[in-house]
Amino acid sequence: MKQFQYIRPATQQSVLEAIAKPGTQIIAGGSNLVDLMKHGVMSPDKLVDINKLPLRGITPAKSGLHIGALALNSQVAEDKQVKEKFPLLSMALNAGASAQLRNMATVGGNMMQRTRCPYFYDTSMPCNKRIPNSGCGALEGFNRMHAIFGASDKCIAVYPSDMSVALAALDATVLIAGRKGQRRLPFTDFHRLPGNTPEIDNNLAKDQLILAVEIPDNNYAKHSYYLKVRDRASYAFALVSVAAALDIDNGTIRGARLAMGGVAHKPWRLTEAEKSLVGKPANMASFEQAAQIAMQGAKAYKDNAFKLQLGPATITEALQHAAGLV
Ligand code: SF4
Repeated sequence: MKQFQYIRPATQQSVLEAIAKPGTQIIAGGSNLVDLMKHGVMSPDKLVDINKLPLRGITPAKSGLHIGALALNSQVAEDKQVKEKFPLLSMALNAGASAQLRNMATVGGNMMQRTRCPYFYDTSMPCNKRIPNSGCGALEGFNRMHAIFGASDKCIAVYPSDMSVALAALDATVLIAGRKGQRRLPFTDFHRLPGNTPEIDNNLAKDQLILAVEIPDNNYAKHSYYLKVRDRASYAFALVSVAAALDIDNGTIRGARLAMGGVAHKPWRLTEAEKSLVGKPANMASFEQAAQIAMQGAKAYKDNAFKLQLGPATITEALQHAAGLV
C-alpha cells in the first residue's frame, strides 16, 4: 500500500479546507476505502478523518427525520424513530453487509461506496472506472452481477448499497456542505449513470462534504418491504433487490414507491411502475402489471439474462409482502 498522511480535523471548516487540496480523500468508517487502498485501486496522499465532526445525530426534521452522515448503519437500523416512521430503511440496512461492518460503516460512507465489479478491484485488468479509457473487462468478461438498466459501452457496473435503494424510494434529500455554503440534492440525483465518465460515481464535488440525509414524513410505514435476492443469506451483495412501499386505503393503492438495487450504476427508481399502481386494488394482478412496466428497457449481457426474470419476480414478491398478502 502506498504511504499516506493522516489528519483528523475538529471542525467542518478545516475539513473543507483539507479536502480542497488534490490527493486528499475523506475517511469515516473506512469499510470500503481501506480495502480499495490495500488493493491499490485508490491511492490517496492524505486521508482526512471526519469522525470528530458532530454528524452522528438522528433527530426530527421540519417534516420527517434528519440523519447525520456519520450515523452508523447499525445505529440507524435500530433507531426507534427510523423503525417507526421508515421501517423500509431499517430493513434495507439490516440486509447489507455483516453486523461487524454495519457497526463501522456510516451513512455517508455507505452512499460513497464503490462498485464491487471484480475487474475494478483487479489492477491487472482493464477498467474505465479505475483508469479512464483503459477499457472494460466486464463487457466481454464474466458479467453475472452486472447492470440491466442505464449501462453504457464504457461501464456496466452496478452500485452495491442496500441503504441507498431505500433512501431513493423514500424521496430522501442529501444535505451537502462546500466552501461556498450548503446545498440540497434529491437522493435520486446523487448517484450517476456511467455514460462516458464511469470514473465519476456521483454528483458530490471533490471539495464537498455530505452532512446528512433527510427523509420526509409519508404514509408508507405500515406497508413497506425490502426484499434482497443474493447468492447466500448474509454478507453478499444483491443480485436484485427491491424497496417497495404502499399507501393502501380500504384495499385500494393511494400511493406507491418502488426502487431496485443490483441492476444499475445507481439506485433504480421505478416511477412508471409506481404510477401504474395508483388507484388499483392491492392484489397480484396490479403487482404483476407494475413489475412488467418496471422492466421495460432492461437489457441483459452474456451472463446476467436471469435478472430479466428475477427482476419482475422480486418486484411482485416485495409488493405482496408490503401489502401484507404473504
Ligand atoms: Fe470497470 Fe465498470 Fe467495466 Fe467493471 S463494468 S470493469 S467497473 S468499467
